Amino acid sequence: VAKPDPILVANGVRRSFGGLKAVDVGHLEVQRGTITALIGPNGAGKSTLFNLLTGFDRVDEGRWSFEGAAINGRRGHQVARSGMVRTFQLTKALTRMSVLDNMLLGAQGQFGERMAGALWRPGWARQERANTERALELLERFRLVDKRDDMAGSLSGGQRKLLEMARSLMTEPSMIMLDEPMAGVNPALVQSLLSHITSLRDEGRTVLFVEHDMDVIMGISDWIVVLAQGRVIAEGRPSDIKSDKQVIDAYLGA
Ligand code: ADP
Ligand code: MG
Repeated sequence: VAKPDPILVANGVRRSFGGLKAVDVGHLEVQRGTITALIGPNGAGKSTLFNLLTGFDRVDEGRWSFEGAAINGRRGHQVARSGMVRTFQLTKALTRMSVLDNMLLGAQGQFGERMAGALWRPGWARQERANTERALELLERFRLVDKRDDMAGSLSGGQRKLLEMARSLMTEPSMIMLDEPMAGVNPALVQSLLSHITSLRDEGRTVLFVEHDMDVIMGISDWIVVLAQGRVIAEGRPSDIKSDKQVIDAYLGA
């Protein structure tokens, strides 16, 4: 990370559940074009922070900007449209749809508003053709194109993770947020997922991901942010984090 060039800047982001301060982040930056890992013990607030930043949960307070524009207060599909997406696990409804239809839903900019299928409007057919083309390209890239007509629910754990990643790319996001992309994945597929994550960065996108496996984290991250009890307790390059006693205590003492 040479000169700071943050794509995402957040200040004073707070969210409580009852008396519990789930997220209490004073300042957070994600540098453009990096793979940044967000780590921390279970319950540290990682998923809540993702939900807040991407407009899928409401903060108590806080401001954040993406590509220089304030986006706090925007809802999920609006955040997605501005270029910042998170992946979503396949819900029950989505498992009953084909792989290709899952991709086409992704084109609508996340699933907040318009699950019921696109309404006809002028230009719809042309848009739908372009979306289908892009979906097939992505399915090719993620080696799922042979599964295009299968129900998403028939995919293996690893293939589902690939579909989640592919789907989030339908809107050509400049930043992609992955919450435990390797969870429940057969070890044979982990390398493939990792190389997909690295390619996202190498093609100029910014990646923020939550992961537990230290070897994975150290292996692919440019920067690591450590969250504990909702707060950022440390951040740095992998080599710095590895030798940070406070981090090791917080992370391993969970
Ligand atoms: P992580 O992803 O780091 O494991 P989470 O963000 O899921 O942590 O959770 C942070 C804390 O907030 C946990 O104590 C969790 O139990 C609590 N929490 C998360 N979501 C809710 C919710 N909707 N209602 C109440 N408590 C919640
Ligand atoms: Mg979580």
